Parts: sequence; C-alpha cells; structure tokens
Amino acid sequence: MEYLPIFLDVNGKKTLVVGGEETLVDKIEMLLNAGSSVTVIASELCEGIAGFKESGRIVHQTDPYSAAELIAFEVVIVSSPDEQLQLEVVKDAKEARVPVNVIDFPQLCTFSIPSIVDRSPLLLAISTSGNSPTLTRIIRSRLEAMLPLAYGRLSLLIGKFRENVKEILESKKERRYFWNRIFSSPIIEMFLSGKEHEAEQALKKEIGVIDQKVQGQTIGQVCLVGAGPGDPDLLTLRALRLIQNADTIVYDRLVFPKILEYAREDAEKIYVGKKSANHSVPQDQINQKLVDLARQGKMVVRLKGGDPFIFGRGGEEIEELMASGINFQVVPGVTAASGCSTYAGIPLTHRDYAQQCVLVTGHLKEDGEGLNWESLVQPNQTVVFYMGLSNIKTVSAELINHGMPPDMLAAIVQKGTTRNQKVFTGTVSNLPALVADNNIKPPALIIVGNVVTLHQKLVEAGFDNQLSD
Ligand code: SAH
Repeated sequence: MEYLPIFLDVNGKKTLVVGGEETLVDKIEMLLNAGSSVTVIASELCEGIAGFKESGRIVHQTDPYSAAELIAFEVVIVSSPDEQLQLEVVKDAKEARVPVNVIDFPQLCTFSIPSIVDRSPLLLAISTSGNSPTLTRIIRSRLEAMLPLAYGRLSLLIGKFRENVKEILESKKERRYFWNRIFSSPIIEMFLSGKEHEAEQALKKEIGVIDQKVQGQTIGQVCLVGAGPGDPDLLTLRALRLIQNADTIVYDRLVFPKILEYAREDAEKIYVGKKSANHSVPQDQINQKLVDLARQGKMVVRLKGGDPFIFGRGGEEIEELMASGINFQVVPGVTAASGCSTYAGIPLTHRDYAQQCVLVTGHLKEDGEGLNWESLVQPNQTVVFYMGLSNIKTVSAELINHGMPPDMLAAIVQKGTTRNQKVFTGTVSNLPALVADNNIKPPALIIVGNVVTLHQKLVEAGFDNQLSD
C-alpha cells in the first residue's frame, strides 16, 4: 500500500486554496461540502470560483500568498501556472506540517484527493495511487450505479440504533451476526423503496426481539420485478439488486433464463410459467404462494417478463398481497413494445408518421370482441399487439373491416432483444400469411403503422443493435 487512507475532519475549520484555476472548482466544492471555510488566494478567479465568491461561500484574497498565513489552515491545495509559486507553497507547507496537494503534480503532494462516491454519511474513496485516473473513473461509475442513493439515509438509520444493539449484545461477534441478518432481511429493501418509517419500525421490532431474547418472526417482502423483454442488460439497477438479494424467485416463462443466473446460488427458484390456454399454475395459486413465502419471512422476487403492470397481471397480484397485509414493492421493467421496437429499429412515434401509440392485447375472444377496433384504426397512430399470434387472422380482418388500408405496413418481432430476434415485415392484409410462411412462434409482438417504414431505412443505414446471448 503506497498511501494511508484517512478521512480528515475539516468541519468548521479553515482550508486554503492557492490559485483561481478551473481545475480547483471540484476541490473547492469538496472542501465546502466537508464543512470547511475556504479561503482562495488568487489575483483572478475562473467563472466557477467567482460563482462561489458571489454566493458568499468562499473568502477571496487578492493579496499575494505569504508563508506566514499557512499555519492557520488544516490543508492547502494549489494549482497555478506559476511553478515557482507552487514550489514555494509546497516548501512552506512541508515546513509548517500542513498537508499540501498540488493538482496534477503527485510527486509534490503530501496527500492526494481520492475520487469519491458520496452517499453521506456513507462515503467511498477510490484511488489508484495516481496510476490511472481512467480506471478510477470507471470504478467510481460502477460503484455509483451499485449503491442506491438512499444508502446514506440508511446508514443514518443504522447509526441511530447502533448503541442500542451494543447495549443488548455484548459480544462483537453477536453484533456482527445481528447486523448481517438485518442487512439480508427485507427491512433494507423496505427502506430503499421509500418505506423508511415502516423499515424503522421493523428494525425497532427486531431490536426489541433481541432485547427480550426471543426469536421473533422476520417480516417478508414481495417485490414484483419487471425483467424486461429478454436482454439482461435491460434490467433496471433496482431489479438487478433485488434479484441478487432474493431468497426466493418466482418467475414466468417469459423471463430470459440468463437473468436467473444473477440470483444467489442458494436462492430458491420457482417456475410458475404460463402458456396461453395452458395455465400451468393458476393465478390464485401464484398469489397464495407469494403470500405464504412472505409470511415465512422470505425476501421474494416475483419476476415477470417486461413490465409487471403491462399485460403482466401485476395488479392482481398486489391486490392479494395488500389484502393479506404483505409488504410489497413494484419495480418497472422495459416492456416488450419498447424493447422490441427499439431493437428492431422501429420508433413507435415519429414526427412524420405517428403522434400516438396504443398498446393492446391480442388475447381475444374468437369474434374479436373486447377491443375497440375503431379506435385502433386512426391516422398517425402506431398499434402494438401483445399476445397477438394466435388471433392473427382476426386482428388482420378486424383492422381492415374497420377501415385500415390493407396495405398498411406491419411488422412482427419474434423473441425481441435476444440473439434469436427476428423481424418480419409485411402489410396488415398479409399478416396471417407472414406468420404461417415463417412459422413464427411466441413470444412475438405485432407492430402496425407507418413507422414500420423506418425499419427498412434504419437497417439499410446500418442500424444493428447489439444483442445478448
Ligand atoms: N408484461 C410483459 C407482457 C406480457 S404479455 C411486458 O411488459 O412486455 C406476453 C406478450 O408480450 C407476448 O405474447 C408477446 O406479445 C410480448 N413479448 C414479451 N416479450 C417479448 C419478446 N422478447 N419478443 C417479442 N414479444 C414479446
């Protein structure tokens, strides 16, 4: 290890910046965020630093730098085109034993300023000891994505009860075990999904439980999570985190298998897939299963293809959870219409072709009843049919019967966003033939409207979305 990582308390203390350069703006911001009172010595200030001055956040001193003042400051940061000045400040700072940092001159510094991920009071500092700022940036952005914004407030909550737990559990090992258990319990997800008050109550209950030395039942949670249409890269950050933390994953047929690989090795995976007209697990049994698992204290992820609230029966599942008093949260996913159209190069709206877009189910009664066909045959509109394959003849016939030109463009996207994605284009009148001739199988999405023209244009122009395995 080349450096000793430490966090310096400069709150309410004075810090010094020598120079008015742009490169100092971030550093000044950091010094201010850490609560220090910043003095800037410079004859001229760049725009950013002048802004700090205008808002009264810094003290600006135009008198030239002099060594005598240095001792009053906790740290000094320098950046100046005047090399002589930089060397002088470094020499003085070293003599006065004030930590000094010279921007872009690591060999002159007595301390370095790491890159940070700020979830105050949680603070992560990253450094490659000056070897690769790019690597630092990459790691930082990965950590930024990994750590939910609410982690800061979460650490405050934990901090609030730390002493209580310490009084109750004397051994360090017991305390560590306790906090580990809390961190893998649904309390944390409850907190992160915005139910901070409920999470605090649940944590108090847990602490009450250890106080009485009785084993209480932990509270479970069900998270309805949208897994997107296929490509695992389309998962939201929250979906990924929940999948990685789940004790049990209850998943559908449409969930892309690779996504399940993100789960913990010991997570239980329960398949409740459904095929049209062949309901392998009836919905009420799925609902009951979710309730039972949560009551066992499990952190349950109910994983659904696409978005749980778009033709996903998510609404029915949460009704049951609500009725049973189970904690739950819903995480949106990229719905098939959005994912498949994007990966197929068919914008659902476009200034020249469509000002509106409707998502409809093609899961119909034989006679096509159940859909307002007139509203689907409108100018400048894109119509997207989910589950439309088995009724493709009805869809085609009803659209034409209700006035859609038979040569209106249409596309079918099969297994969209996966490596096996196929895009077939035709017209409303030849949709049934398109399905039969190409032996198109579900899952497939049907897009009807003039925007389909853009598919050809984009493909000719070299449009090619990178597909996952
Ligand atoms: N909740 C899901 C939709 C479930 S209904 C969502 O928001 O996407 C199931 C229908 O979605 C399928 O019949 C098909 O029409 C469509 N679908 C889902 N994933 C698809 C995919 N990868 N490619 C094409 N269509 C898909």
